[in-house]
Amino acid sequence: MEMLVRRGFLWQSFEIYGGMAGFIDYGPLGNGVRRKLENLWREFFVINERAVEIDTPTIGIEEVFIASGHASSFTDVAIECEECGKIFRADHYIKEKLGIEAEETIESVKEVMETYDLRCECGGKFKHPENINLMFSTTIGPGKGKKGYLRPETAQGIFIDFKRLADYFREKLPFGVTQIGRAYRNEISPRQGVIRLREFNQAELEYFVDPRNKTHPQFERYKEQKIKLVDKFDNEHYITLSEAVEKGIIAHELLAYFIAKTREFLLKAGLKDEKLRFRQHKDDERAHYAVDCWDAEALTSYGWVEIVGIADRSDYDLSKHTQYSGEDLSIFIPFKEPIKVKKKKVVPKMDKIGPTFKEKAKKIVELLEKAEPNEKIELEVDGEKIVLTTEYFEIKEVEEEVHGERIIPHVIEPSFGLDRITYSVLEHAFDKDIVDGEERRVLRLKRWMSPVQVAVLPLLSKDEFVNVAKRISEMLKANGIFTEYDDSGSIGRRYRRYDEIGTPFCITIDHQTLEDNTVTIRDRDTTKQVRVKIDELVGILKELLNSEKDIFEFGEVFKE
Ligand code: AMP
Repeated sequence: MEMLVRRGFLWQSFEIYGGMAGFIDYGPLGNGVRRKLENLWREFFVINERAVEIDTPTIGIEEVFIASGHASSFTDVAIECEECGKIFRADHYIKEKLGIEAEETIESVKEVMETYDLRCECGGKFKHPENINLMFSTTIGPGKGKKGYLRPETAQGIFIDFKRLADYFREKLPFGVTQIGRAYRNEISPRQGVIRLREFNQAELEYFVDPRNKTHPQFERYKEQKIKLVDKFDNEHYITLSEAVEKGIIAHELLAYFIAKTREFLLKAGLKDEKLRFRQHKDDERAHYAVDCWDAEALTSYGWVEIVGIADRSDYDLSKHTQYSGEDLSIFIPFKEPIKVKKKKVVPKMDKIGPTFKEKAKKIVELLEKAEPNEKIELEVDGEKIVLTTEYFEIKEVEEEVHGERIIPHVIEPSFGLDRITYSVLEHAFDKDIVDGEERRVLRLKRWMSPVQVAVLPLLSKDEFVNVAKRISEMLKANGIFTEYDDSGSIGRRYRRYDEIGTPFCITIDHQTLEDNTVTIRDRDTTKQVRVKIDELVGILKELLNSEKDIFEFGEVFKE
């Protein structure tokens, strides 16, 4: 963290006013890393799926969160000290002070408090534990206005638009909808620095499927891959994905597919495989609507941290929004072949209805044709109740052709916390080694992920070196390479500075440059250097940045 703050990756927000827990600023370098991560995410979860990206407001009206259940149950149990008034999130406080995993219910927190005589850090007693809602509330419009909330997840904006989205995809399942943006949770006592934020960045995919077909055509690509799983009973497995599905450890193929794809994404971003695992939610931890849920966890200095949640949310959200909004959020699924079904049907007796009901007869016939077959049928015509018996209709068995059915799709949701992933990428990349007998700090980011990809360094700050260096720097920038020019301090110190922020290549302009138009490229990881022609520099750098090729493929190594 010291390095990240000093070098301009992450800063405490509102620092000059003393800061505020749960908020961070992305400095120029941290912002660069997060943006690249976002773009990689788009490549994986939008471009390479049948998926689109949308963007909806970060404030939601109250109705949305009443329907979704957030208004009543997006809560954590909190405990407040009677003496000093400090409030803590109960399960975190109990874990920190007693090393016990407490269930997140008022009853179990109370039990632990009594059994262990749990006290505040100041020695004071705690009041009765309480459920506290984590959403930030706000008012839309002046005065009393309308109640609203800052969204606690980006997903709801997608569910609300479901009718439009289904139409966009011509009602053909499966389809995916993504959103990348801010989410807000008024976390009770965030003490885990960059990990538990009150404003953070999510990238979520809602993948809508036919509930009878939770498969994915690309599962083939992953099914023989072995993966580290911790199931809901805390049993560890190292098995192939297809085995995990066959044995019922992962509920179905589609979840297994997204677990594998998430893993591929995280490895591509630079996380270390040995510091990555997938953990299944326990029965009491899983959201009540979720069928099965797996977290990708990264091992960091904060311990194992959840960085992605992958859940089967079933039809919960669409059903709730159907119920609360009154809009039908189902989809028509045609059968491959129409099927014939035998049905009982009400057939009105015209010769009886006409003479008896006269001008009302037409309406009665219409209503009867739609009515459930029964010996006695009650109808309401122009506000008047009419009860008819089989004197006025027959019940016949008929064969009908049915072309399809309406269903509410299920949704599988991989939900990524971009801040936690950014931090984990940085922590996993951080390394120390010895170079020229001195300790070196080096950030071994993937080359393409580095916020400064190339540093252009004149050996000396004399005009003849500086002019060439500046010209090269401009040329690289014009070719879309993230480049920084730097002429301050000794060349050794400058190399160390760029190693520390993860810059994969330094270009040095030296005496020989002035003689033969060549420069050196220095590789961050090995500190080896090769000499190349300035004319060929752009092409070589582009190839190096988009691959893991060794620099000696492009010139003779002259410094080990
Ligand atoms: P959830 O909806 O709780 O499963 O969250 C989805 C993802 O968002 C998690 O896997 C985290 O990476 C991230 N996340 C959740 N809460 C926070 C938070 N308070 N600060 C930062 N990231 C968070």
